[in-house]
Amino acid sequence: MLFGRRVRNPIKIADKGVAAWKYTTCGYCSTGCSIEVGLDASGKAVAARGVADAAVNQGKLCIKGIFEHELFNSANRGNKPLLRLRTIDPYRDVSWDEALDHTAGEIRRVQKEYGRDSIAIVSTGQILTEEFYTLGKLTRGVIGTNNYDGNTTLCMASAVSGYKRSFGSDGPPGCYDDFAHTGCLLAFGSNLPEQHPIIYWRLKMALEKREFPVIVVDPRVTMFAQMADIHLPITPGTDLVLLNALAHVILRENLHDREYIEAHTTGFEELSRLVAQYDPTTAAGLCGIDEDTIRNVARLYARADAAMSIWTMGINQSTHGSDGVAAINNLNLITGNIGKPGGTSLSITGQCNAMGTREWSSCSGLPGYRALEKEKDRETIAKFWGIDPEFFPQQRGLFMTDIFPAIETGQIKALWLIATNPMTSMPNSPRIRKTIEKLEFLAVQDAYADVETTRYAHVYLPAALWGEKEGVFTNTERRVNLVRKVMEPHGDSKPDLWIFNQLAKRFEQGRKIPFPESPAGVFEEMRELSKGRMLDCSGMTHDRIERQRGIQWPCPEGAETGALRLYADGVFQHPDGKAKLIALPFVDNNERPDGDYPFWLNSGRVVEHFHTRTRTGKIGNVNKFSPTPYMEMNPDAAERLGIEHMTYARLVSRRGDAVVLVQLTQRVPPNMVFIPFHFHECVNRLTLGLLDPYSRQPAFKQCAVKIERAQNQREAAAANVAARAF
Ligand code: SF4
Repeated sequence: MLFGRRVRNPIKIADKGVAAWKYTTCGYCSTGCSIEVGLDASGKAVAARGVADAAVNQGKLCIKGIFEHELFNSANRGNKPLLRLRTIDPYRDVSWDEALDHTAGEIRRVQKEYGRDSIAIVSTGQILTEEFYTLGKLTRGVIGTNNYDGNTTLCMASAVSGYKRSFGSDGPPGCYDDFAHTGCLLAFGSNLPEQHPIIYWRLKMALEKREFPVIVVDPRVTMFAQMADIHLPITPGTDLVLLNALAHVILRENLHDREYIEAHTTGFEELSRLVAQYDPTTAAGLCGIDEDTIRNVARLYARADAAMSIWTMGINQSTHGSDGVAAINNLNLITGNIGKPGGTSLSITGQCNAMGTREWSSCSGLPGYRALEKEKDRETIAKFWGIDPEFFPQQRGLFMTDIFPAIETGQIKALWLIATNPMTSMPNSPRIRKTIEKLEFLAVQDAYADVETTRYAHVYLPAALWGEKEGVFTNTERRVNLVRKVMEPHGDSKPDLWIFNQLAKRFEQGRKIPFPESPAGVFEEMRELSKGRMLDCSGMTHDRIERQRGIQWPCPEGAETGALRLYADGVFQHPDGKAKLIALPFVDNNERPDGDYPFWLNSGRVVEHFHTRTRTGKIGNVNKFSPTPYMEMNPDAAERLGIEHMTYARLVSRRGDAVVLVQLTQRVPPNMVFIPFHFHECVNRLTLGLLDPYSRQPAFKQCAVKIERAQNQREAAAANVAARAF
């Protein structure tokens, strides 16, 4: 009986008056759900639903996808290009021609005055792959700056770097189907039910059919940790210690796969010598996991017929994020768990098209996983585009996280931001604000006119939203799926592809190089350039991708479908065809709690929001579940400081301060607090963000704060409300 009723009322689904459903792919996270948007007779988007025969989501959507159709009419969409000569002046509406002429003119002026690399371009993981490819062509082949990167440096760079170091190339080797075959799942720093709800649902479906241990490594008792068989509440920033200790036990107890190691890897001797130093007793003192549990987990993992590891930001956002990924790969290589059903190292990516930028944007090299450092790659692309190979730099330029310090020192004078929001997403945001004010020219291209960077910009270019244009995304498991245009762009906003093409025409070299106008035309170029390569997509077309509800690469011409897994043949992308086992000593270089700043500050995502809330903050049905900046705090710690549930507290770090609403919960230990990273003027006022030496990704999750009860609760509430405005 439900609340005294004797009869269950059937669920009533309101008739929204849908006249037509249009296929597309969700534009939030990297799960890659196929979605249909319902349009009423007037063409207005009124509903969204999952696509039943899609392999990824099988008809399911999370709360963000269910309300995604509301984005088309959300507040503060950009309508007209805006321009001003000085940032103290008000913007005026201008034509596209005037905005683009001015932008091209400023890029040319700055390059003439200060050199080709004095303009930086920072893009995103949100636009379509055809747009990434075109932006790469414009940047590498026409504008010619080497200081070009994406905001994926804040989320996925360590995974890319770790894959490259271990396997010789980027590219997640596994897939969601591995849940159905694995004998043990080890998840590092990944709160799957909140971050990637539909991938979590795939895991639950696999567990309903067959039991296997789920082990979650996370300093916090996340939703995922609560459902796990074993939870390892690790000391922040010490995952490398745990991974080395697991390898130690596996080698010491002869649980490793000698045949696989011999046939497919190099570096075993050096790795053995290094992990010999990480016995569980010593490791327990560093990582906070007791030695028996370390041994137990190592045995469970190594004895399973197939075992897999997944991870997200808990590994990547660290000063040794790249090492952490390489150590996960070590674990899977020594146990022979790469390229087989249920055995993999699967990085769960963040943004809907973080993979697309990794594959085709040319941010870290040249399109199709080609490297600037390789002469042959430079020549292939230069010939294909019809330019001189000498125009390309011979090594990649600055990462996003190095571009801002280069603005501070005057090396970079102009910046073009595309669908990224560094004022909220970069660590130490007070410093970023001061930095950005030093620019001679700032262009912001975004679907929303109210992203905070427009306050500091000279030009604002209004971009179309995902469902207002056409092209592909690649998801976490290398599945390329189609975004169909559901409706016309809002107001006078334009697809990013159109903006890049129009800008190219304003440069002499851009008029010589062909820039296809249509997404299908761009995809043809990508197909051609992918032939024979790891990410071969020559067997795909837009129509075929839609029919099959996404196709995984590689899918060469003539193939029936894409490959589920990489490296099934044990041949890797290093020149000798072998994977590298890498000895990875732990260096403890994080800011840690001390007498002055006694709490660890941890951050992460909540299910209702996506990244910096530029979209979800405007969808009432989503925002209402998590409307305000808050902090999870342990009740014992709060009692000592006289802080009560649902009051406001002020946090202070060595960088700045933030005001949050307190939620008392046992999910965090007494020496730690957790704050969702989505809110403006909040957690990133506090973070330090030391950089990983390989990936240049910031350590968002490890820094120290002190906490005090906000003396004036009314003022604190006002500050808290102000932080929701963006
Ligand atoms: S899980 Fe990710 S891709 Fe799927 S509906 Fe939710 S936000 Fe979209």
